[in-house]
Amino acid sequence: MLSTVELETMVGRLAHLDSDIDDTQRITQLGLLERLKGAAAAAQARVSVDFEASQRREQAAAGLPADQQGRGVADQIALARHDSKVKGSRHLGLAKALVKEMPHTMAALTSGAISEWRATIVVRETAVLSAADRRQVDARLVAEMPHLGDAQLARRARAIGYQLDAESVLRRVRGAIRDRRVRIRPAPDTMALVTGFLPVAQGVAVHAALTAAAASAKALGDERSKGQIMAHTFVQRLTGQTTADAVPFEVQLVMTDRTLEGDDTPAQIPGFGPVPAAFARDLVTGRAGGHSADPDQARLAEVARVWVRRLFTSPADGTLVAMDSRRRSFDGLLRRFLVARDQVCRTRWCDAPICHTDHVRASAEGGETMADNGQGLCARCNYAKELPGWRCEVVTGQGRHRVRTTTPTGHSYESTAPPVLVLGGLAPPGRYSSGDHDLLDTQGMPGMPGSPGLPGIPGGADEGALVTAFEALIRAA
Ligand SMILES: [Zn+2]
Repeated sequence: MLSTVELETMVGRLAHLDSDIDDTQRITQLGLLERLKGAAAAAQARVSVDFEASQRREQAAAGLPADQQGRGVADQIALARHDSKVKGSRHLGLAKALVKEMPHTMAALTSGAISEWRATIVVRETAVLSAADRRQVDARLVAEMPHLGDAQLARRARAIGYQLDAESVLRRVRGAIRDRRVRIRPAPDTMALVTGFLPVAQGVAVHAALTAAAASAKALGDERSKGQIMAHTFVQRLTGQTTADAVPFEVQLVMTDRTLEGDDTPAQIPGFGPVPAAFARDLVTGRAGGHSADPDQARLAEVARVWVRRLFTSPADGTLVAMDSRRRSFDGLLRRFLVARDQVCRTRWCDAPICHTDHVRASAEGGETMADNGQGLCARCNYAKELPGWRCEVVTGQGRHRVRTTTPTGHSYESTAPPVLVLGGLAPPGRYSSGDHDLLDTQGMPGMPGSPGLPGIPGGADEGALVTAFEALIRAA
């Protein structure tokens, strides 16, 4: 029996693995370590299943209705494994399938004969089968399992499954159609990948439409490459813009006024990430996107200025936020502020897009509708946080906004708001006092004696100071 303390010692001892060895032993070590990873994954599966059963018993004893028992379990597994909630659910699903339905695959994983990924493949490929059919695939694959590659293993598992239950093929197709979706991911060089996971006929139709548009443009003498025309048409048709470059960007761009003036502090596009300062300037002056500059750059620059005014200075008029502090929900400017500050769900390792702006301390318990007591969460994390035994509190102190989440087992996880902008050295004090009042008009604001400028931001302060100052601006309004 290996105790928790011994397990911790074992992890520490791996750092001191005998290295005074020959290459034969090195290869042996690599193989053994690979088996160790498999065995560890099997152990995690057993622990997860035990944890779920125990949590369900506790929730039942606490009077939680049967259909709600088990909630928050995958969330705690995700936090313990430093993973997103979606992966937490996957880990638990894999664990339950292995422990309860696939004893042979589980045994192979436990002995380290297969990796966690191979076990995942078998579970994934049999997901549409009944538990009984799944057990059959498990039994029939056991001898081959350690000897097949990833792709072969997937094909074998699927083939046996089709034999057992041809209907599962149809169910799989229907299931796949239900999973259709569109995603965005940042790509290098300030590009983005927008992918649509579509039924094959629709996917082919999308591509054919873009190809046809490129062909007819080329026939009319368009000198851009086929790929460029297709990308341009893709944006035009999806956004309804007459030209792809006219996509409105101003609400999505968080930048300092100094970046507009030539400072190299990167800007931030919420939901995407940082972009270089020069690129941000090109965006507001219409030069980005591979087309020639807008003839009326001054006007466009003015649009950007108006936007900066709105973000930084409209708290000064006092109306919106003053109303917000009496409201029970974060909306308007305060919501925009929270989304810009947190960027993605605030639960550690979650990274899902923000759906809810939530009171850290519930308004029913006296929590205020203020930036400090707010956080951006994905829907799932917001629901998990409301479950019995979960606690959430703001950690007070200097620097960026921090929230501590405590799970029913008493484990605590702290999440710090990301830097809104990665600042490359702040301007010295007084930098804002000459002619910048139209951008950062803090003069005469309540609680802001000594304006002009951004009070409380000494030269060279960390980025947390800027965020704190913006929060102060909103509170003061
Ligand atoms: Zn989340």
